[in-house]
Amino acid sequence: MELTELPGLGPKRMLQLEQAGITTPEDLVLFFPRKYLDFTSPVPLAQLTDGQEACVQVRVVSAPWEMRKGGRHILRVTVEDASARASAVWFNQPYLKARLLSGQWLLLSARVRKQRGQLQLTSPIIAQDEGGGLQPVYPTIEGIPGRLLRQWVTVVLDKLPPAEDPLPARIIGRSSLMPRAKAIRTLHQPENAQALAAARRRMAFEELLLFQVAVRSLKAGRQGKVAPAIAFDADKRKAFWRAFPFEPTGAQQRAASEILEDMAKAQPMARLLQGDVGSGKTAVAAIAMEACIQAGYQAALMAPTEILANQHVRSLQGMMGPQARIGLLTSALTASEKKQAYECIKTGQWNVVVGTHALIQQGVRFQRLGLVVADEQHRFGVRQRQALQDKSQGAHMLVMSATPIPRSMALVLYGDLQISILDEMPPGRTPVKTYVVPPHKHDGMYGFIKTQVAKDRQAYVVCPLVEESDKLDVASAEEVYEAIRTGPLRGLSVGLLHGRMSGADKAAAMQNFASGKTQVLVCTTVVEVGVNVPNATVMAVEDATRFGLAQLHQLRGRVGRGRHESFCFLSCETPEGSQRLQLLAREQDGFKIAEADLAMRGPGEFLGDRQSGLADGQLASLAQDVRLLEETRRVLERVSGGGWEEEYALLQRAARERYRLRLEAAGIH
Ligand code: ADP
Ligand code: MG
Repeated sequence: MELTELPGLGPKRMLQLEQAGITTPEDLVLFFPRKYLDFTSPVPLAQLTDGQEACVQVRVVSAPWEMRKGGRHILRVTVEDASARASAVWFNQPYLKARLLSGQWLLLSARVRKQRGQLQLTSPIIAQDEGGGLQPVYPTIEGIPGRLLRQWVTVVLDKLPPAEDPLPARIIGRSSLMPRAKAIRTLHQPENAQALAAARRRMAFEELLLFQVAVRSLKAGRQGKVAPAIAFDADKRKAFWRAFPFEPTGAQQRAASEILEDMAKAQPMARLLQGDVGSGKTAVAAIAMEACIQAGYQAALMAPTEILANQHVRSLQGMMGPQARIGLLTSALTASEKKQAYECIKTGQWNVVVGTHALIQQGVRFQRLGLVVADEQHRFGVRQRQALQDKSQGAHMLVMSATPIPRSMALVLYGDLQISILDEMPPGRTPVKTYVVPPHKHDGMYGFIKTQVAKDRQAYVVCPLVEESDKLDVASAEEVYEAIRTGPLRGLSVGLLHGRMSGADKAAAMQNFASGKTQVLVCTTVVEVGVNVPNATVMAVEDATRFGLAQLHQLRGRVGRGRHESFCFLSCETPEGSQRLQLLAREQDGFKIAEADLAMRGPGEFLGDRQSGLADGQLASLAQDVRLLEETRRVLERVSGGGWEEEYALLQRAARERYRLRLEAAGIH
């Protein structure tokens, strides 16, 4: 079977599917729903609470009312059930008008807003006429309506012969797993919640098990490899820290010795350095790079953005000794500058090379690469990480991440890496004062922002992501922006930043805020990781319950960077939400927050939005299922022992196939 056989699938949509990673019918059936709308148990309108996402069964009691506002089409009707009335609002879906006839009964799934006793259902989804049940919602693919995608999946499921099961029958039996073909069908067309849970467990089990098998191969594969043994004795370490502008924290010294011990061995280091924003990871990287160049090798540092690469060059210049010859390679260089840079890297004239992903381009050849450091690694795609590993064959590798990840999850995601943790902040930081803001204090929050701006400080206002599509995200940021600019913050200079703006517009918005021209920046979560505006003292988050605690903690890390006292406000409309957010008010330690977040939230949400996407993101959400993780680890222990040789070989083959690219990059075939 070919994708082209599907109804309504022309060359343009083919391209759009391809961009979402779907090129074959097999890919399509493995493109799973992001969530399900539960139409099985409608809630009476009178019982709805603010912020809830619920299914309701209602009758249309007014003719649809249409208007345009700020370039958007708005459609509104009044609906009711036996218990109450509500208004339902749709944005930019004018075609729905024909379906909203007075007297018509509808089964809707919607986000509920309840303000001053008024109920509003925002952008409700209408259950398919042919019946409610559990309806899959797929990740948005631009240009392809969800309805069409569902139809295609149904066709493929019926036509495609089921693929081979990568798990040996003995494991399926012992762990009571749903057969693969059935699990796949169930994920697309769940009969009920129970079957859906079993199907998810089955696919998660497979992924976790195979990934752990792949990680074992990675580890084993590195064992035979050789890297330069780089010694950096106690005197040299002391000298480094003496020249360092601060007293190093205990955690920095500890992490540095762990790294230097690894590098002293003639086999490649593969280590992850985790530490909250501001914990001082750069200094730890700097001492490793210093060791590297003093031994006569080159060191490379890869940063996710140009701004950060520039920032790194400046900090390294302040930390490294006179032997360092630091060069910068980014895609902003002109062709002739680039050529020159390549030359300096090839001849070893530069022994410290800082760059963006321009570093992993084809033309870059190192003379004697001894150490590769990747900063903020979760921002790099899988492919870039592979290319980096390619270049670092025979070099030590240090990966730095500011996203605190609970240990159980890190063990899976980075199971092939050793882990060092910076769990101590440099002294002299005042914690960001954090408050949960109930609805009746919401105006007061903006009042506070005004007083801060009057003291020449600046503020961020972060808007929640509306889930259904990026387009709506933009609408919500724009809506808040308009409302704030013309309402509570009238007279101030307010800027806007969201993911759909062009690169140049984003840079300009950021620049205006950094220079102080913009006093308040309304934004979605695109505010750059690591970007530093020390004069910003307020982080206000609207509808904070829509974010994960770990993500809120990251957002909070963008203030409290200067000498002024800083504040974080978490606006929240429900008492339950407020209770969860209180943890942030009490706790400043990212790891403790991450652990608590993991304990409190359901699957699939840990890393917040889908920006973490990719295979790693999916794995992360699986890995947080600690029970399943334990179970698969036990299965692996058993299967890699005696009496399971045949099964283990089968798993290894399946893992190799699935993680082929990753394994090849590490030189394992
Ligand atoms: P991150 O872990 O977020 O990358 P950085 O390495 O950028 O953190 O360090 C954050 C700030 O703290 C920098 O301005 C750095 O100079 C400073 N810093 C690093 N280590 C110490 C220390 N031991 N004492 C005081 N300040 C430090
Ligand atoms: Mg950093």
